[in-house]
Amino acid sequence: MIGACMVLALAGCSLPLVSEQEIAIQAGEQFEKMSAELTTSEDTEVRRYVLCVANAIIATLQPPYSELEWDIEIFSADVANAFAMPGGKIGVYTGLLKVAENQDQLGAVLGHEVAHVTEQHSLERVNRTLTTQGIATLGSVALGGGAAGEVVQGVAQYGILLPYGRGQESEADIVGLGYMVDAGFDPRQSVQLWRNMAANNEGAPPEFMSTHPSSDSRIDDLIRQLPANLIRYNSAKAAGQRPDCGP
Ligand SMILES: [Zn+2]
Repeated sequence: MIGACMVLALAGCSLPLVSEQEIAIQAGEQFEKMSAELTTSEDTEVRRYVLCVANAIIATLQPPYSELEWDIEIFSADVANAFAMPGGKIGVYTGLLKVAENQDQLGAVLGHEVAHVTEQHSLERVNRTLTTQGIATLGSVALGGGAAGEVVQGVAQYGILLPYGRGQESEADIVGLGYMVDAGFDPRQSVQLWRNMAANNEGAPPEFMSTHPSSDSRIDDLIRQLPANLIRYNSAKAAGQRPDCGP
């Protein structure tokens, strides 16, 4: 550690950690690129439905996340997947709508994805990568290399695409459950959603299936969370949170 800090001292002794804002800029560029390159759905009914559910989830957020200008795009692809990126970019693939059978199940997926953003999971991944890999980089910067910015940028970009860790997935499940019930979506449907996901899990696993130990333990964890979330769901409903998105 002392050796590392001696190297770092030459570069001002600060690790090249990126801020959430920097990651959000990277994510925004990536999202724009995806929106330009992939086929987006022009089905107005599908768009209305997905936007309705996504906006219901977003409406439960606290600042600063409630203040982001959230962008939601629907990609035409037979993949049961969705994502949310730092800065407030949500992507939903039309294939997800075959697995998430109703607004509550779609709310479970989007609650989970939005939780990755509010829990700053991309930032954690990028900065962990930079902390373990950045020391050698800074050494070369101190010796006159000018690539630090590029490396930080590269890792930041890579970080957005990296799978989340297992702990992050569990956290997104729990936090996301809170968002879905606050929005007035039935938390019991999250259990059905993951059953559907497990049954559909052929080929490449989607984001939310890739690093979790197994769908069985995930479902067990969700069931453990149900009693508290049913109470929260009932008070949200009593307070008037009853989304009517369809499909
Ligand atoms: Zn996830």
